[in-house]
Amino acid sequence: MIDFHTHSAASDGALSAPALLARAITESLQCLALTDHDTVAGYQCVKNMDHSGLKLISGVELSCQWGRTGIHVVGLNLDVSSSVIQSHLSQLDLARSDRAERIAHKLDREGISDSLAGALAVANGAQIGRPHFARWMVLAGHVESEAVAFKRFLGRGKPGDISLLWPSLADTVSAITNAGGVAVLAHPLHYKMTMTRLRALCRAFHEAGGTAIEVINGRPRPEEVKQLWRLVEENDLLVSVGSDFHRDSPYGAGLGVDPASIPRGYGVWETWC
Ligand code: AMP
Ligand code: MN
Ligand code: MN
Ligand code: MN
Repeated sequence: MIDFHTHSAASDGALSAPALLARAITESLQCLALTDHDTVAGYQCVKNMDHSGLKLISGVELSCQWGRTGIHVVGLNLDVSSSVIQSHLSQLDLARSDRAERIAHKLDREGISDSLAGALAVANGAQIGRPHFARWMVLAGHVESEAVAFKRFLGRGKPGDISLLWPSLADTVSAITNAGGVAVLAHPLHYKMTMTRLRALCRAFHEAGGTAIEVINGRPRPEEVKQLWRLVEENDLLVSVGSDFHRDSPYGAGLGVDPASIPRGYGVWETWC
């Protein structure tokens, strides 16, 4: 089993980076990338720990935008201490702090006050994101679940969905490739695009220097995987796979993906694992 898309408490995951690494070792993963949103703090924390035979690959899931659409690009096997990545991450730190203030302002106008302090307390030093606002809204009794917080306040098109703030797709792919890594288009079917637009996104991603797309993210349905393979073939891309693990949950996938269904020559990991 291998996994190139996971989150720790350095972003919006539940497990600390050492606990995630320990879990991966317990579950006998061969190869793992920790890909927190817009931070490598979790990876930095565990990279020199004992991996007991597990191969740990550097990674990060970068927020960016293509036109008006927010997109996630996973960077793998990159030099996380390179100046190009460090300065890109500083830019994202600022964007996230700024966005958190704007989300709080929007929630204020919806009659929900003091959310910034609340979300920062939940984040507890992690890279701040909407899931921390959602968690705080549940704890403060504003909504009954995080899903409802997204549905009413934080999800696509809702007041707390702040657009046009991330670096461009092209700059993001460049930052990853200039740091020696490979860029992977994360969960292409999460963006709710028409197939025509998705094709254009894959083309733009490839032209920007992107290498692979995730054909397995979490627990996809077989027809989704088939659709993604068409995009791979059309754009001469490689593939990556990951659970997108955030926490144990009845809905999300557990750690680890079985790569048996990926034909030789396609896996972006073949030279590392
Ligand atoms: P952000 O990076 O701050 O924009 O937050 C995006 C993260 O929120 C995603 O990576 C998911 O982990 C989480 N998320 C997105 N949509 C939902 C939802 N509907 N319910 C719960 N969590 C969500
Ligand atoms: Mn997340
Ligand atoms: Mn994502
Ligand atoms: Mn993710």
